[in-house]
Amino acid sequence: MNLQFTEEELLIQETVRQFAENSLDPVAEKMDKEDYWPNDVFKEFGELGLLAPTIDEKYGGSGLGYRVQAIILEELAKISPAFALSVGAHSNLTLDNINRNATESQKQRFLPKLCSGEWVGSLALTEPGSGSDALGMNSTARIEGDYYILNGSKTFITNAPLAKIAIVYAKTDPNLGSKGVSAFLVDLDSEGVSRGKAMDKMGMRGSKTGELFFDNVRVPLENLMGVVNHGHKVVMSGLSAERAVLAAISLGISEQASKLALKYALERNQFGQKIADFQMIKEKLANMFVETQASKLLVYWAINELELNHSNNIAPASSILYAAEKSTQTSLQAVQILGGYGYMREYKVEKLARDAKLLEIGAGTSEIRRLIIANRLIRDGKYPWD
Ligand SMILES: Cc1cc2nc3c(=O)[nH]c(=O)nc-3n(C[C@H](O)[C@H](O)[C@H](O)COP(=O)(O)OP(=O)(O)OC[C@H]3O[C@@H](n4cnc5c(N)ncnc54)[C@H](O)[C@@H]3O)c2cc1C
Repeated sequence: MNLQFTEEELLIQETVRQFAENSLDPVAEKMDKEDYWPNDVFKEFGELGLLAPTIDEKYGGSGLGYRVQAIILEELAKISPAFALSVGAHSNLTLDNINRNATESQKQRFLPKLCSGEWVGSLALTEPGSGSDALGMNSTARIEGDYYILNGSKTFITNAPLAKIAIVYAKTDPNLGSKGVSAFLVDLDSEGVSRGKAMDKMGMRGSKTGELFFDNVRVPLENLMGVVNHGHKVVMSGLSAERAVLAAISLGISEQASKLALKYALERNQFGQKIADFQMIKEKLANMFVETQASKLLVYWAINELELNHSNNIAPASSILYAAEKSTQTSLQAVQILGGYGYMREYKVEKLARDAKLLEIGAGTSEIRRLIIANRLIRDGKYPWD
């Protein structure tokens, strides 16, 4: 695994950094305080061609791959983890999923406007009664003439309040249980679709999260994505890609929290010396460095594994498990280093801590990630290096 970024990757990293500083930073505080979604900034990001790094150029993407997608999210997260989350839900959970599972004609119909940012995308798996047990969903889709009739509700869906398109999972054969699930491409302007108001969150504010309700929605038969009753495979491979890529948001948060903490520790004096010279502050700075570097290695290892093999679920689960927990701890350590100032919104580290916590819950909780890892080890009866 080569951890040195190529010249092209460095150029993209610098482009995203400039965009984040010039266009995103001025609205980041408003996003958090007012739960404001900067649609114009999202459009601008689309115009830069950065919304679809894993999508082929013929559909409007840049075809650069998952590593570039991770680099983009890592950089965005330093300035606004919430913007990175919404971009991740659009670019990875929706576009990349369509790219991997849709037919040629579906790709031609849906991808170009999603790649440009003209349409916002979302992925609707979670329901009020099924979160970790995602395949225990109650939404149904039955055939009637040329349509599937979709009924049910989804909750906690990133981008739902703004999205034009959602990938919606529903049971097409409830008798088959978790094996009776299928995936659909749903136009959210269809009759029978309604949306709850945006949910009021602890962090990731500005990234719009909401409910979707489907009341006898007519979805054309040709909008079934993948094979009927094989949606569980789409769900599971999608979750692995999602975990690998979204872990880069946690990494960006850790990098930013560490940076702000070090800067402050070098500037703040107490007892006639820099607080950076106190041993207990040094310990925190050293731990933040090591844990952030370890997160980076895990994140880019899992991305590398994803590019080689989509069915490897242990690498993404490990990477996001570690990177997410460390980003919460690192940003809380940053609050501690900044003392009373760290507790104030103006200093930005408390926001990073609130944002960081989401990555321990969304895309499958830390508990579920540990189960994936342990179950795999138990199934194989050995560690990968044995
Ligand atoms: C801001 C935000 C954005 C989101 N975006 C999306 C999205 O775009 N699309 C989407 O489909 N979903 C989305 N989600 C939903 C997210 O994936 C779920 O919240 C998550 O999977 C957990 O489900 P739950 O909230 O129902 O918790 P539950 O599954 O009810 O879990 C509650 C607790 O029980 C634990 N638990 C559950 N099962 C087990 C077990 N077997 N062993 C041990 N512990 C267990 C969990 O780890 C957790 O601590 C989002 C959530 C949030 C908060």
